[in-house]
Amino acid sequence: MAGLLQGHIAAVTGGGSGIGQGIAQAYAREGARVIVLDTNPDGARETVDLIASAGGQASAMKLDVTDRAACQAAAAEIARAGNISILVNNAGINRRNPITAEPAVIGKDWDDILSINLDGMFNVTRAFLDQLRATRGRIVNIGSIQSFVHVAWPNSAAYTTSKHGVLGFTRALAAELGKDGVRVNAIGPGLIETRINAEARARNPDMVATVMRHTPLGRAGKPEDIAGPAVFLASDMSAYVTGCIIMADGGFRTV
Ligand code: NAP
Repeated sequence: MAGLLQGHIAAVTGGGSGIGQGIAQAYAREGARVIVLDTNPDGARETVDLIASAGGQASAMKLDVTDRAACQAAAAEIARAGNISILVNNAGINRRNPITAEPAVIGKDWDDILSINLDGMFNVTRAFLDQLRATRGRIVNIGSIQSFVHVAWPNSAAYTTSKHGVLGFTRALAAELGKDGVRVNAIGPGLIETRINAEARARNPDMVATVMRHTPLGRAGKPEDIAGPAVFLASDMSAYVTGCIIMADGGFRTV
């Protein structure tokens, strides 16, 4: 049986680790050719190897999403081998300092988080826009519970702001690109066990317990818990879905 994404070319930012790696593997399993874009060449190579050893097609390109010119150059290079029809804006970071921290510290957090999580999403989307319009493509942005609320993890003004922005960008772009047949949606993961929160989980077991008490499914998520919604939003199964966010959070937001 042909996969749900047969014939598609998908670019996944931050595809060298965690959620991005899980999505890249799932897309390849569904028949897409995957391009892993990441600042971390070792992680990107690992994803490509995992996909290749499972019989899928993937390649890697080093890309810092904050570098607007580099995003344009990467998109141009990729187009030479075919236009992408799926873009996953997944690259992201988090830091947890209080807003009262030293101005230099909190200022750097603000600049780094907003420039990767928010400006990066704009840079990459703008760079691939012609390709996505030509293929009537699909964009999947990775938001968060924090696209709506400031959850039990304290000290995350910049991260919460960035993820509210991801949702706003998703809705605005869905409205603007619908006429071109481009669908734009987001996924809101709950607590997913990846490197981004490994140190915080180890340092704050009470915080994890608090989040779990508020999570009806009673467990933290894995990258593969996000891969299913990401396949759905990239495939024709969601042909009439745009401007939405699918919460994959074990039910956190419903209680
Ligand atoms: P992760 O395991 O740390 O993966 C993030 C990947 O993005 C890493 O490979 C990282 O490379 C890469 N990256 C960082 N800065 C980049 C840049 N400027 N340009 C390109 N790539 C860059 O984290 P994750 O949990 O999978 O996070 C993926 C996305 O899910 C993020 O947007 C995050 O905010 C979101 N999310 C995660 C959770 C969760 O609980 N895990 C919940 C909600 C939302 P390095 O290794 O070099 O840093």
